[in-house]
Amino acid sequence: MIYYPFSDYLKHHYGEKVYKLPIALPVTCPNRDGTRGTNGCTFCGEIGAGYENLPSSMTISEQIANNKAHIVPKYKAKKFISYLQNFTNTYMPIEKLVQCATEAVQDKDIVALYIATRPDCISEYYLSRLNAIKKQYNIDICIELGLQTVNYKSLKKINRGHSLAEFIDAVLQIKQYNMLTCAHIILDLPWDDMDDVIENAKIMSALKLDQVKLHALYIIKNTKMADDYLHDKIKLISLDDYKKRVITFLEYLSSDIVLQRLIGRAPAENTLFSNWHTGWWKIRDEIITEMEKNNLYQGKLCNYLNGPALKKFDPYN
Ligand code: SF4
Repeated sequence: MIYYPFSDYLKHHYGEKVYKLPIALPVTCPNRDGTRGTNGCTFCGEIGAGYENLPSSMTISEQIANNKAHIVPKYKAKKFISYLQNFTNTYMPIEKLVQCATEAVQDKDIVALYIATRPDCISEYYLSRLNAIKKQYNIDICIELGLQTVNYKSLKKINRGHSLAEFIDAVLQIKQYNMLTCAHIILDLPWDDMDDVIENAKIMSALKLDQVKLHALYIIKNTKMADDYLHDKIKLISLDDYKKRVITFLEYLSSDIVLQRLIGRAPAENTLFSNWHTGWWKIRDEIITEMEKNNLYQGKLCNYLNGPALKKFDPYN
């Protein structure tokens, strides 16, 4: 296997194809409302990540029903994941979160609840309440943590409002509740180089993340990043370099970690720059072709865990 795609994981785990249903909640983010910061991350647009979402004014049940009505006839889909996608979904009073999470798993075809949030919005109390829902409805819960990079100096540059430590803390806490963990990572932030790419893979592997979702950096209109881009304050890498970074990341990444995506997507009308004006599926296919051609695969260079300096003394090595 060249890499471990999400579709394969879902098929193995649930016995058939499973589809994610995005749900938008009327939430905000502590990096916008003044709790951690006011301006948000420098790349984040007004509507967060929810380009494909229905309006958050619709109820959760309505959003699920609408999305199912679109997907079921098209793909003959039977199982679904409710995905609380936009902004910081655990950043609300706990009773409200419990109410939303419970509503999101009522449909009998829902097998899992995925929740996107920030590492500084994870706490033991919140996890224990979500765990009760997980048990009551016999579903999987995956917490998708926005990290973007393990380079804590770059985290400052993009105004994340948290460092690497909060991410590590969140992952360790989530694991105590047997929930799945996923990290969102951008491999081509302007201040990161190949050493950062490798360190990203190593830290995800050492922390035993379950899933990773990669995005290439897109420049969303009317953001601080857009301003820097227009004034030549940042330099973007080429598509070839992005592909090299993804391949290197995969080589260093443990083969157990599922890749939700190798590249994201954002609509052209909202961006000044997105995916080198190339379809995401084309970029993904080119990465796979390149890896096949050169006999490269996920985990090929993942030999740095479990005491690598002791390997010469290991009789089984
Ligand atoms: S944490 Fe997420 S929602 Fe908040 S500003 Fe950053 S990218 Fe946007």
